[in-house]
Amino acid sequence: VIPWEEALATVLAGCRPLAPQRVPWREALLGQVLASPVVAAAPVPPFANTAMDGYAVRAADVATVPVRLPVVAVVGAGHPTARRLSPGEAMRIFTGAPIPEGADAIVIVENTSRVADGAEVEIHEPAVPGAHIRPAGDDVAPGDVVISPGVELTAGRLGAARSVGAFVLELHPRPRVGVLSTGDELVPGDGPLGPGQIYDSNRPTLLALVASAGAVPVDLGHAGDDEAAITATISRGFETCDMVLSTGGVSMGDTDLVKVVLDRLAGSAMRWMQVAIRPAKPLAFGVVGGVPMVGLPGNPVSSMVSFELFARPGLRRRAGYPDSRLQRPRLRAVADEPLTRRSDGKVVFVRVVARVIDGQLRVRSAGGQGSHQLSAMARANALAVLPDGPGVDVDEEVEVLLLGDL
Ligand code: AMP
Ligand code: MG
Repeated sequence: VIPWEEALATVLAGCRPLAPQRVPWREALLGQVLASPVVAAAPVPPFANTAMDGYAVRAADVATVPVRLPVVAVVGAGHPTARRLSPGEAMRIFTGAPIPEGADAIVIVENTSRVADGAEVEIHEPAVPGAHIRPAGDDVAPGDVVISPGVELTAGRLGAARSVGAFVLELHPRPRVGVLSTGDELVPGDGPLGPGQIYDSNRPTLLALVASAGAVPVDLGHAGDDEAAITATISRGFETCDMVLSTGGVSMGDTDLVKVVLDRLAGSAMRWMQVAIRPAKPLAFGVVGGVPMVGLPGNPVSSMVSFELFARPGLRRRAGYPDSRLQRPRLRAVADEPLTRRSDGKVVFVRVVARVIDGQLRVRSAGGQGSHQLSAMARANALAVLPDGPGVDVDEEVEVLLLGDL
C-alpha cells in the first residue's frame, strides 16, 4: 500500500506533454495550452488615438474659456487626416481616431457647443495636454509578453493575441483520451435492466470528466468480462488515443480481466497499486507503446475520485499544463459539521458541499459516503481531505480539493 502522492508521481512520470504544434489562430481551440509566449512585435495601440468623441485641440489654445475655434477637419476611426492642426484650430474627432499632428488634447463633446452649423466650435472647459489621448503602446509595448506559456487559451487571451497580430500560435494539442468500461453486469445503452444488471454510469461520467478537463473524450465502448473483448477494446484505445482510461476489473475478483489483459499486453510496464486512500484503493498505471494507461476502479465514486486524483493530473500534463497547474485547487475550509472517520492508515476523501459564507469557505457532507453512492458525489463540489485520525470537529479547519464551482 502506497501513499497517494506516490501513486500520483507514478502516473505523472509516465505522462509527457504532447508535442506542440503551430496552429493558425482561427483553428486554435479554447483550452489549448500555449507552448511558447506570444510576444508583441509592434505597439498596441499602434498609434495615439482619442478615447472620447470630441474635438482635437492644442491645450494652449483652450487655456482660457470660453473660446471659439474653427473646425478644420473631421477625423473618424479608420480615417486619419493628413492635415496638420495649426495653432487656433480644432478638428472634430471620434473615439479610436488617430490624433492629428499638432494636436495635444481632446475636449469631450459634452464640454463644447457647435457654432455656425459645425464650422466652428465653442469650448467651455480647458484641457490639459494629453487629455483623453491614448498614446501608442499604452496597452502593449514592442517586446512585451502578452501571453505566457503554460496557460490555456481563453477568450481574453485569444483577443490579446489578435491585438498584437499573432497569426500563428504554438499550442499543445488537446489529448485524445479513450474511455472503456468493463463488466457483464453493465447495460451500455438505454434498454431495460435485466436481472442482476445495472446501467453503465462510469463511462459517460468519465467521458464528461475528460471533456471538462479540456481533453477530447473518445468513447471506446463497453466490454463484457471477456478477455478477447477487453483486449480488442483496449488495443483500439492504444492505437487511436493519447491516453486510455478503463473502469472496473482491476481488483481481486475472478472476473477482473482488465488486469489479466493489461499484464499480457503491457507486461512489466503495468504497475498495480494499492493506494492508501478511501475510496479508490486499487489503481493501475503503465505506458504502453507511448500511451499512458490508467486502470480506474469500478465503483462509481471510486472511479470519479481516482480520475480526479490521478487521471486528471496525468491528462493535464499531456495537455501541456505546468506542474503547478495539474491538480485541483487545494483550499483551507471550515467544517460546518463533524466530518468523522475511523483511523485506518488511509487518507479519506469526503464528498462535501463547499460554499462561501461571510467570506469563509465552509463545508458539509454531501450525503452517503459509500463508494457506490454516486448521488452524494453528484451533489458534491469538493473533496475534504481527512488525514489518518478521527476526522475534524465542527468549526475546525479542513483541507479541500475544489472540484467545481462554488
Ligand atoms: P469491479 O471493479 O469491476 O469489480 O467493479 C466494482 C463495482 O463497481 C461493482 O459493483 C460494479 O458493478 C461497479 N461498476 C463497475 N463498472 C461500472 C460502470 N461502468 N458503471 C457503474 N458501475 C460499475
Ligand atoms: Mg467488474
